[in-house]
Amino acid sequence: MASIATSASYSGSLPRRKFDVVIVGAGGSGMRASLQLARAGLNVAVLTKVFPTRSHTVAAQGGVGASLGNMSEDNWHYHFYDTIKGSDWLGDQDAIEFMCREAPKVVYELEHFGMPFDRNADGTIYQRPFGGHTANYGEKPVQRACAAADRTGHAMLHTLYQQNVKSRTQFFVEWMALDLIRDAEGDVVGVTALEMETGELFIFEAKSVLLATGGAGRIFAASTNAFINTGDGLGMAARAGIPLQDMEFWQFHPTGVAGAGVLLTEGCRGEGAILRNVNGERFMERYAPTLKDLAPRDFVSRCMDQEIKEGRGCGPNKDYVVLDMTHLGGDTILKRLPSVFEIGHNFANVDITKEPIPVVPTIHYQMGGIPTGITGQVVTTQNDVNTIVNGLYAVGECSCVSVHGANRLGTNSLLDLLVFGKSAGNHIIESHQKAPKSHKDLPKDAADRSLARLARLDASTSGEYAQDVAGDIRSAMQQHAGVFRTQKTMDEGVVKINAIRERVKNITLKDKSKVFNTARIEALEVDNLMEAAQATMTSAAARKECRGAHTVKDYERGADDKEFPLGRNDKEWMKHTLWDSATNSLSYKSVNLKPLTVESVPPKVRTF
Ligand SMILES: Cc1cc2nc3c(=O)[nH]c(=O)nc-3n(C[C@H](O)[C@H](O)[C@H](O)COP(=O)(O)OP(=O)(O)OC[C@H]3O[C@@H](n4cnc5c(N)ncnc54)[C@H](O)[C@@H]3O)c2cc1C
Repeated sequence: MASIATSASYSGSLPRRKFDVVIVGAGGSGMRASLQLARAGLNVAVLTKVFPTRSHTVAAQGGVGASLGNMSEDNWHYHFYDTIKGSDWLGDQDAIEFMCREAPKVVYELEHFGMPFDRNADGTIYQRPFGGHTANYGEKPVQRACAAADRTGHAMLHTLYQQNVKSRTQFFVEWMALDLIRDAEGDVVGVTALEMETGELFIFEAKSVLLATGGAGRIFAASTNAFINTGDGLGMAARAGIPLQDMEFWQFHPTGVAGAGVLLTEGCRGEGAILRNVNGERFMERYAPTLKDLAPRDFVSRCMDQEIKEGRGCGPNKDYVVLDMTHLGGDTILKRLPSVFEIGHNFANVDITKEPIPVVPTIHYQMGGIPTGITGQVVTTQNDVNTIVNGLYAVGECSCVSVHGANRLGTNSLLDLLVFGKSAGNHIIESHQKAPKSHKDLPKDAADRSLARLARLDASTSGEYAQDVAGDIRSAMQQHAGVFRTQKTMDEGVVKINAIRERVKNITLKDKSKVFNTARIEALEVDNLMEAAQATMTSAAARKECRGAHTVKDYERGADDKEFPLGRNDKEWMKHTLWDSATNSLSYKSVNLKPLTVESVPPKVRTF
C-alpha cells in the first residue's frame, strides 16, 4: 500500500486529469449545467460520491414551480411576489425576477428533454397548489407546482441523466472531491478528488470548476436529507477562504414522519390534506385564515410547534400532530401520491387512506450557502463591493444566489437547479467562446491541503471516531438551532460547536486500508459538516431579530408592532451574513432590493 506524503513536491507526482470544466455533484443542478456544457461541445467531467440518479434530487416529491397557468390564472409577477414574501424580504429581487421569468422556459425545456410530467385532460402539464404560492398577490392559492405524481425529482433526475449520457458528459462515479485548488492570484484552477475504489488522490485541472454538491442537512440529527448531504461544497469553499452566506436560515419541513424523519411532500396538502391536533381541530385555520394548511413552511412549522407546546399534540407523549388525508379517497391518493402511500406503510405502519399519519417539523433545506450572482459565478464581498472568484461557480442547494432569502417556498428549489444550472452553463460557454483560454499552471502546493488531511487520518493512532464526533455535531445543532431559538441557547450552541471543532482535529481512523474505505470518506465528510455547522451556529447567534425560518423567542413581537412587526428588524437586519471560516467571524452585505425590469416589492408585514 502506498503511503501518502505531505510535501509540496508530492503534488507534482499525483495522477492528473484535465477538462474544460469540472463539476462536483450530479444532482439536478450539476446535471443541468453539465448538459448545457456538453451540448455546446465542451469537455466536461462530473464527479459524484454516488451514482448520479441516487443524488438527493431523486427524493424530491412535490413539484417544480412555474407560472404556466395551465389550471388556474397565473403569471410570473405573482410568482415573483410570492417568492419575495416567502423569503421574508431577504431574497435578492434581481435574482428572484430572473428565476420566475425563466421558470416556464426551463420547465418546457425539461418537458422536451422527455420529462414524464402528469397530464391534464387537454394534454398540458398537471400543476398542484403548494405552500405560499398564490394568485393575485396573496389572495388565494394557485396551482403552480408542475408534478410527476409524487416523484417529480426522480423523473427530473433520470431525464437529465439520460440527456447527459446522450451528450457524452463524462461521469466519475464514486469519486469524492476534497478541496479546491486556488493559485497565487486567487483563481480556481481545479480540484483534488479521491477515487473511492482505490483510495488514490487525483488532481483535476479545469478552466472552470462548478460546485453543485447539494445541501448540508446532515448537520442535524433529524433530517429529511440523504446521508450524503454533508455540505462538502460548503467545506471546500470555506477552507479555500470563501465566506458562506446566510447560513442561519434552515428550513424545517412541517411534515416529516414522526420518529422517522422521512418526508411527506407538501403536495399532500396541495392535494387537500389537513393538519389536525389532538382535538381533531384544523388548527391552521386559526393561524392563517387565507392560506390555512398551505401557508409557507416556516410559518406552518411554528404553528405545529406551538400546538405541541400548548398541550394539543397527539400520541402518548403529545409530541406530534397528524396529517389527515382520509377524505381525499383511495383513488386520488394512489394516483397523485403513490410514494406517500408507501411511506405511510413502511415508516409509520399507517394506511393513509384510512387513518391520519403522525408528523413533526423536520430539517429539510438550507437557504444559505456559497454566495453567487445570477450567472452562478462565486463572489466575495467587502464593504458591499463584490469581487468575482475567477474560475469558480456554484449552483443548487450549496449556493446562495439568493432567491430563497430567509425561507424557501416549496418547488422553488427544483426550479433554482434548472434556472441557475442552465445560466451558469451558459456563462461558462460564453466566457470560453469570448476569450478562449488555456489551463493556468497549477500552483506547487496544489494538493497540499488534501494531502495533509489524508495524512492526518493515516498517522492517527488514537483519538475519537468520526461517527461519534459527527453525532455530537448533530445533537448540538438539533438542540441549539431548532424551530424556535433563544439567544441563550444559540450562544451556548456557539460555545459547544467551537469546542467540537477542536475534537475534529483528533479524529482517528482504525482501518487504514485504501480500497472502498468508507470510514475514511466519513472522516473526511466530518471536516465539511463542521464548517457548515459552525457557520450556522455563529450566524444564527449574531442575527438579533426574527426573519423567515430564524425565529428567536427573545425578539418575537406582534404583527401590529409598528417598529418591528413580528420581530423583524428591517432597520438593522436587512442584510446578508457572511461567515469566514479562518477567523470564525462575520461580515455583512446589503440585500439587493432592485429587480431587473419591474418595480421592487417593498417590505411589509408577513401574514397569510
Ligand atoms: C425529501 C426531499 C424532498 C424534496 N422535495 C422537493 C420538491 O418537491 N420540490 C423542490 O423544489 N425541492 C424539493 N426538495 C429540495 C430539492 O430536492 C433539493 O434542494 C435539490 O434537489 C438539491 O439539488 P442539488 O443539485 O443542489 O444537489 P443534490 O441533488 O443533493 O446532489 C448533490 C450531488 O453532489 C454530489 N457530491 C456531494 N459532495 C461531493 C463530493 N465531495 N465529491 C463529489 N460529489 C459530491 C453528490 O454525489 C450528488 O451527486 C426536496 C428535498 C428533499 C430532501
